[in-house]
Amino acid sequence: MMEIIAVFQACEGHGMCEAMAHDYFELDDDGVVQVLDAAPPESDREMVDSAVRSCPVAALRLRD
Ligand code: SF4
Repeated sequence: MMEIIAVFQACEGHGMCEAMAHDYFELDDDGVVQVLDAAPPESDREMVDSAVRSCPVAALRLRD
């Protein structure tokens, strides 16, 4: 099962991840990403992977 890893200290609040996969990522009031569901089903892999790779500061990772 895949797992979303977020390095919260690296997040700069660009919101790309939230825009691409809002079921999994959300910015909190401080503009730091929150992972809403860290274990996406295989059926969402492509969407989550795209969102992870869209992060301009590489704060997100997908672990298998
Ligand atoms: S795309 Fe990266 S920097 Fe932007 S909110 Fe998501 S984790 Fe943070």
